[in-house]
Amino acid sequence: MKSKPADKIQDLQFFGEFGGVNPSVSDSSTYTFLSAKSMSETFEGNTDGCYLYSRNSSPSNLYLEEALAAMEETESANVFSSGMAAITSSILQICKSNDHIISSRTVYGGTYAFLKNFTPKFNIKTSFVDTSKPDEIIKAITSKTKIIYCEVVSNPLLEVSDIKSIAEIAKKHNIKLVVDNTFSPLSVTPSKLGADIVIHSITKFINGTSDTIAGVVCSTKEFIDQLRDINDGSFMLLGSTMDSLRSSSVLKNLRTLHVRVKKHSENAHYLAKMFKKDGVKTVYPGLQEHPSHDLYQMIINKEYGFGGMLTIDVGTLKKANKLMEKMQKNKIGYLAVSLGFYKTLFCAPGSSTSSEISEAEQKEMGLTEGLIRFSVGLDNDIKRTYEIIRKCMKELKII
Ligand SMILES: *Cc1c(COP(=O)(O)O)cnc(C)c1O
Repeated sequence: MKSKPADKIQDLQFFGEFGGVNPSVSDSSTYTFLSAKSMSETFEGNTDGCYLYSRNSSPSNLYLEEALAAMEETESANVFSSGMAAITSSILQICKSNDHIISSRTVYGGTYAFLKNFTPKFNIKTSFVDTSKPDEIIKAITSKTKIIYCEVVSNPLLEVSDIKSIAEIAKKHNIKLVVDNTFSPLSVTPSKLGADIVIHSITKFINGTSDTIAGVVCSTKEFIDQLRDINDGSFMLLGSTMDSLRSSSVLKNLRTLHVRVKKHSENAHYLAKMFKKDGVKTVYPGLQEHPSHDLYQMIINKEYGFGGMLTIDVGTLKKANKLMEKMQKNKIGYLAVSLGFYKTLFCAPGSSTSSEISEAEQKEMGLTEGLIRFSVGLDNDIKRTYEIIRKCMKELKII
């Protein structure tokens, strides 16, 4: 019988040191050797099952990595202390001075700032294009292009990239396709569509409790080994290791991800439909009129729905701020950045999560000032939630 990613995670059965149902946490930074010879062999990287030093790897991190590789259907994975660490380490592992990157213009603000302001210091240049238009990607390719970078579902406008078509372009030109799948874990499996490297900010849906910052790179064993290389691996040498206590806690949260994603999607879809009905400008990939609706439907693992993120446009920043404050007062959720939390989070991306992007560029990509981004929570009774939001909107004369 064919097992899907969630089944593969379910089938992982790790026993703790004393027969515990959760694997033991490795509470050590360094590891002993019974013989001096095996220590030198481990340094040369040719002894399996031996641990040396926890920046290199630790049993707790390996358990989580095995589960995340199963989720993304890749050979291997490496966890990091943040999503940004996973992104920057991957880019710096692949690119050297004089290389070129093609990136979607609607990537996460931190990624955008890294490519726009940081990597040029090492003479690595980036062209920002609309990756939903394959022609624009092809036009931007040069002999120096090493990476095509995009997000499956973009932030905050929730545009979906056609990973399959982009992967074909990348393969043809021998370029690595790096995909950030933070917004759509389990819903989309980019490696099956041809992505070479799949990255997550674990901080968001995968962890789901907004209590830690973490990231992961899922890829071939070859690439993961490169990241970990003690002589020139970016993970190893930049040192953005995840702590063992944290990885053991993330692993437990990962076990409920499939249930959570379905509920986030169900709740977000309901709110999107009702907001639209009320005449509020609503963007949600599950709505028929969303420009990426058909494409998303094609690439999605259907049982997980269209995701927990939606945006509405209430016209002005002032109105957006008033509505968010009112919703917070009415216990709908928190006026906060980030996503994937069990309670609803909302923010105005133009002046927060996407503020690295200049006003002119925001305008060009359709990021309006009255936009509110919702990460819809796991609310038990979403109809009740909607009624409360509706009352807030009425009081502010938004509807
Ligand atoms: C949050 C986020 C990141 C950065 O992850 P951190 O864990 O905050 O470092 C990268 N990409 C996307 C799409 C994100 O939402």
